[in-house]
Amino acid sequence: MEMGTISAAYIASAILFILSLAGLSNQETSRRGNWYGIIGMAIAVIATILNKSVDAYGWLILATLIGGAIGARLAAKVEMTQMPELVAILHSFVGMAAVLVGFASFFDPANTLTGTEATIHNVEVYLGILIGAVTFTGSVVAFGKLNGKIGSKPLLLPIRHQLNLGLLGLSILLGWWFLSVGHDGGTLPLIIMTLLAFAFGVHMVMAIGGADMPVVISMLNSYSGWAAAATGFMLSNDLLIVVGALVGSSGAILSYIMCRAMNRNFVSVIMGGFGTTASSDDGDQEQGEAIAIQAEEVAHLMGDASRVVIVPGYGMAVANAQHAVSDLTKQLRDKGVDVQFAIHPVAGRMPGHMNVLLAEANVPYDVVLEMDEINDELGDVDVVMVIGANDIVNPSAMENPNSPIAGMPVLEVWNAKTVIVSKRSMATGYAGVENPLFFRDNTRMLFGDAKDSVDGIKSSI
Ligand code: NDP
Repeated sequence: MEMGTISAAYIASAILFILSLAGLSNQETSRRGNWYGIIGMAIAVIATILNKSVDAYGWLILATLIGGAIGARLAAKVEMTQMPELVAILHSFVGMAAVLVGFASFFDPANTLTGTEATIHNVEVYLGILIGAVTFTGSVVAFGKLNGKIGSKPLLLPIRHQLNLGLLGLSILLGWWFLSVGHDGGTLPLIIMTLLAFAFGVHMVMAIGGADMPVVISMLNSYSGWAAAATGFMLSNDLLIVVGALVGSSGAILSYIMCRAMNRNFVSVIMGGFGTTASSDDGDQEQGEAIAIQAEEVAHLMGDASRVVIVPGYGMAVANAQHAVSDLTKQLRDKGVDVQFAIHPVAGRMPGHMNVLLAEANVPYDVVLEMDEINDELGDVDVVMVIGANDIVNPSAMENPNSPIAGMPVLEVWNAKTVIVSKRSMATGYAGVENPLFFRDNTRMLFGDAKDSVDGIKSSI
């Protein structure tokens, strides 16, 4: 394929990716956005393969078959609850790809750049490997934390800030060494930097507490974009630069939104859990007694209510209860009850997790409201039903300055007349913090798997 045709294909892909991002920002246009992304990526891959400089078709076909088969199998098998960890591990692949391309580009015998051009290329290689290595190990640890193989409690080494600063200083020094020796002696500083960046990625994510994980996920998403952009510079591939910058900047914007939603300082979070040190008191003290309720009683309360708000959380995803919840909503609306959903920005385990589940279950978009849109109105609600949510409705975030989640805006469900909490036990949520909501006078605990509980309510209505 001629260079001109390839450039035209790349421009078309870039436009499709921008349209895709625009489409994905709204539930009603998200399917279309997804298609734009798929078509854009198909054009990009085909144009790249048909580039004249590509000749190792045998290897390409083999790698595509192996990668495609693994990807297709994983996609078919993955549960909705495993999506966040899948996304995390996919970020790690981008990071590792940037590291490998960086080394390949550095050792490439066809690389004959000299002078300023060589220095610029070396800067690209160094930054690409640095960002890629941090993204790789950081994402692997995030994967472990999300699937529960690694505990969600932050690892707070006594000298962690000095350690981080030391690693940053060393990376700068190694970069200076690498650039001054260039191609001839650059292998050693490059390898040392890569090992340090691997260690930094592990330490950075290990130091982050459960409640701050959303920021880390979106931040790693952003890093993977910048790693891809750096790879684009190394390979002189304009489309990869554009795509990397799109992912990098949208991930950074998302991280900022997440931080604002959680009232956290972005730098503090990524520097490894500043603020988590003060959280010795996690509200573990005696709280009183929780009052249990049965599904039939909940059905009566909801059937008699004029306004009901449902707050879904991670447990709804675990129980796969979204379809049952959607049916219950329809049943109540048919009876004339005003039913709405309140979505916390960090509910579940990935940005937009609850919106995706509710859309999948065909819950009408106009009854799904963001936290800011509905929080002030919860005092006028007859029944709030919390389904598998915990941290996002924890009053200690507002009332206990020593809580690890202090300052995080939460859904103030306790202002409603009655609060029903559907969960299996009195266990804590992802942040590992006790929840005083369960012991409030107007709270009733509906114990059991969320899907079974909602099915029970449905049949009683
Ligand atoms: P939480 O993790 O705080 O609580 C979920 C609750 O669901 C648990 O307490 C659990 O209680 C209950 N549960 C689990 N399985 C079931 C089931 N089958 N049926 C009924 N209940 C069930 O979730 P939230 O959504 O309230 O909060 C999200 C948390 O995750 C926040 O701390 C957030 O910071 C963090 N996070 C969010 C990310 C994001 O991007 N959204 C990413 C990473 C972390 P029990 O075991 O008793 O049933």
